[in-house]
Order: sequence, then structure tokens, then C-alpha cells
Amino acid sequence: MENGRIKLVVLGAGPAGLALAMKWLQRPSLKADVVVLEKADQVGGLAAGFEQEGLIFDYGSHRLHPSTSPEILTELHNLLAGDLLDQPRYGRIRLFDRFVQFPLKPLELVRKLPPAFVAGFLRDSLVKLFRTGGAPVSFADVLMNGLGKTFCESFYFPYAEKLWGLPPEQIAAVQAQRRVAANSFWKMAAKVLYKMPGLKRPGAGRFFYPAKGFGQISRVLAQEVQRLGGSLRTHVQIERIEEQTDGSWILHQQGGACLQADMLFSTIPLTVLTRLIRPVAPAPVMQAVEALRFRAMVLHYVILETDQFTPYDAHYFPQKDLIFSRLSEPKNYRRAVEPRGRTGLCLEIPCDVDSAVWNQTDAEITARVLADLHKAGLPVRCRVINSFSKRLPFIYPIYDLAFADHLQTLEDHLNRFPRLIRLGRQGLFVHDNTHHTIEMAYKASGCLDDDGRWSAEQWQRHLHSFAQNVVED
Ligand SMILES: Cc1cc2nc3c(=O)[nH]c(=O)nc-3n(C[C@H](O)[C@H](O)[C@H](O)COP(=O)(O)OP(=O)(O)OC[C@H]3O[C@@H](n4cnc5c(N)ncnc54)[C@H](O)[C@@H]3O)c2cc1C
Repeated sequence: MENGRIKLVVLGAGPAGLALAMKWLQRPSLKADVVVLEKADQVGGLAAGFEQEGLIFDYGSHRLHPSTSPEILTELHNLLAGDLLDQPRYGRIRLFDRFVQFPLKPLELVRKLPPAFVAGFLRDSLVKLFRTGGAPVSFADVLMNGLGKTFCESFYFPYAEKLWGLPPEQIAAVQAQRRVAANSFWKMAAKVLYKMPGLKRPGAGRFFYPAKGFGQISRVLAQEVQRLGGSLRTHVQIERIEEQTDGSWILHQQGGACLQADMLFSTIPLTVLTRLIRPVAPAPVMQAVEALRFRAMVLHYVILETDQFTPYDAHYFPQKDLIFSRLSEPKNYRRAVEPRGRTGLCLEIPCDVDSAVWNQTDAEITARVLADLHKAGLPVRCRVINSFSKRLPFIYPIYDLAFADHLQTLEDHLNRFPRLIRLGRQGLFVHDNTHHTIEMAYKASGCLDDDGRWSAEQWQRHLHSFAQNVVED
């Protein structure tokens, strides 16, 4: 504490870290100096964006979902000053060698998919009316109990294995509960019902998207932090973080600089955080750090010499023989016509760090991507102007059957530090969307009173409610 002002340090300038800093700075009654430290050379984390050859790209398909709370939506509308577009969703998924709308529309599935699939799904659904499965242990159990074999084997199981790199029997049940919104026949039936005139939910089938790419959300949050007097430092390499006897922290940066923090709020991967803390955690905690894994992703970008590749914003590919899980065409998220004569594609390739694709050259990945697009019914018939990859090591937390025990060990250890709070997607080891992580920031801001006292009980209640978040695609 200096001159009666508390020093609040935030690790990570993704949406969660930036929104947290902004909310504190908006409170003149809070006597605090706020510093945000970011490792990368730009803000936004997974929700960042960049420009290449006049095209705007995101880190994979990103959209702001209509379930964003009105408070956050209003604030983003104001900060983006008219730049938050309200767009219809226009996606497709490849199933049985044809495309159907995504998010799935059950009635369209019935119309378009092979009769054997439809008959199998209806049979499974009828059986569900009379029989319930046992207590689910795995992702496979939840979806088999909820949707039956036909749907699981043709869609959810191969897709899950592709995304998380594990067979569905080895993925924890909670993954299906939090990651698959329509994980039972009844929820799917409710989806059909909500399509009926008069019953449609507000925002259904639509999404919000900033006119200058998804990264614009983080950029305006960062501008607001700086406008309100916060300090935002990018390109910061933290070497270690030491707890002081009074519970405050000293952050040691590469090059010798130190920063004191009365309270530290971390949105960085909790495994990375634990490795930075001194004294080093006991052996069982470090073993849990090793055991908790994140799935990585190669994002492969292809710039084509054409106005538009397809009219769709995103295509989803559950097939295991196709290297990518999703294709997005960012121009279509904004319904942009400029720049003319070129468009960009982003292909999401989930993988592990140091897997074969992770180590391939851009040219090798381009060759595979073009071959797979052809196989998937989307041949590239125009000139490829450029192609390049970005490699992201922390994409999805992997919920294997043992993850909950490892996570508990880590949380028990980190919760012993009263002036260290974790939030955000990586900080809490969750799959949550951007609006969820901004919500976490708003709630965390409210747990600190104007005298700098943190309400651990209130935060605990919020953590329980975050655990109910269901991720949207
Ligand atoms: C492929 C993909 C598609 C997605 N699509 C959507 C979507 O359509 N809609 C949606 O709402 N959400 C989507 N998400 C989720 C969204 O990206 C995240 O919810 C959001 O970025 C989380 O924000 P965050 O601030 O919690 O974490 P992050 O964005 O991960 O930010 C954490 C920050 O910490 C920084 N950091 C890491 N280590 C250190 C360190 N040692 N020191 C300092 N800083 C460090 C990172 O560089 C990063 O900037 C998607 C995610 C992925 C991967």
C-alpha cells in the first residue's frame, strides 16, 4: 500500500484481465493503482485478432453470443461506439458426405440425413422414454444416456475425440454437461420447440460481432483501462512470483525489474502460475501440475484470390480423417465486401504440442489442408495468395477421468494464498466463452470493497455459479 492506495496487479490482458482492470478503474471511490501485465505483444489472449494483407483475422471462429448479460452488452455497445454488429448465424456441418445447418436443426436432420440415421435416432429416442441409464462417469455415458448410439457415433464421439484428443470414454462426464448444450433428447426437443413462431428466444440464431474483428473487443477494453489511468504493459516476461510474509507479492521480471502487488489477480493458465510461485510447491502439487493438460491448436490461415470462398461464416467437420475441426471465413462474420478480390480462411487444427502437425512447415500444412478441403466437398479453385500458421499451446483444458483430482490438488494449494485470486478461462481451467470470462471479471471487481478488502465468501459463491456455465459454439 502506497499513499493509502492499494496496488492491484492483473496477470494477462485477455478479456477477463482487461475487464477486471476496467471495472476497478471505473470506481473513483476505490483508491487503487491498477497494473495489467501481459506476456504477448498485444492484448486479447485467445480472443485477440490481427490484420494480414488487408484482411482481419481472429484466433479461430469467435462470436459474441446473445446470452451475454445486458450489463456487459450495454457496456460493449458503448465502448465499441456503433461497431457491434448483430448478425444472423450462417454455419454448416459436414455429416454423411453432405452439409446441414449448424447449430443443428433437428427437423432439418430428419429431412436431409440418410433414412437409416433418422430411423436409428428415432428408435434411440423412443427407448429413452422408457429406459434411463446409470450414473454417468464419462462424456460417452452422458451422451449415450441422453441421445443414444446413432447420434453419438455419427457426430459427437468423433468430434469430441478430434477436439480433445481422447476417446469419449476417457473424457469426464462434466465435459458433456458443460460443453454440449443439447446433451439429451429432451433438450433437443426443447430446441425444436423454441424454433416455433412465438416461442423463439430473443437472439436465437444470431450473434454479435465487432466491425473490426473480434479482437476489437479487447482493444477497446484496453483503451478504456489506459484512458481511466490504469497501467497496461505488454511483452512482460515474469520469471517468478514471491509471496511476502504479509501475503502481498513481488513479481520478478526478466531483466531484473520487480513489481510489488498488494493483491494479485491471475488469468494465466493455472499450471503456469503454479510454476512461477516461490517457494516452489510441494511435490504432489507439482505432480498435479504435470498431470493437468491443455489441448493445443494450430491455426492455419489461407488467403485466396477471390471475393468470397463460401457464403457461410463457419463450417464444422467432426470427421477424424479431416485434419481440421472448423473452417471460418472472417469476412463473412462482418458481411464485408472489402477488400475485393481476396478473402481469408482460418482452419482450426486441434493437436498436442510437439505432435506431427505442430512441427510441420506451413507449406506441408497448406498441402494437407487443401487436400482435405477437396475431400470435404469444398475444393479451392482459385489462387492461394499466402498461407501461414499460428500455434497456440493453451486452447482447451483436457478433462480426462482423473482431471478433477489433479485440479482439486492444485486449487487446494493456490487457495492457501489469500491475496492471489484466479479467474478467466485459463485461470479456472474451464472452456468458458468470452462473455462468461467478462462476467467473472465484473463479479471479481465487486468482491473488492473501496477499502481494498476482498470478500472471499462472496467470491466463493460466484465460483459456484460459474460452474453452471454452459459453453456455446
Ligand atoms: C478456437 C476458439 C474459439 C473460440 N470461440 C469463441 C466464441 O465464438 N465466442 C466466445 O465467446 N468465446 C470463444 N472462445 C473462448 C474465448 O477465446 C475465451 O473465452 C476468452 O479469450 C477468455 O478470456 P480470458 O481473458 O479468460 O483468457 P485468455 O484470452 O486466454 O487470456 C489470457 C492472457 O494471459 C496471457 N498470459 C499467459 N501467460 C502469461 C504470463 N506468464 N504472464 C503474463 N501474461 C500471460 C495470455 O497471453 C493472454 O493474453 C474460443 C476459444 C477458442 C480457443
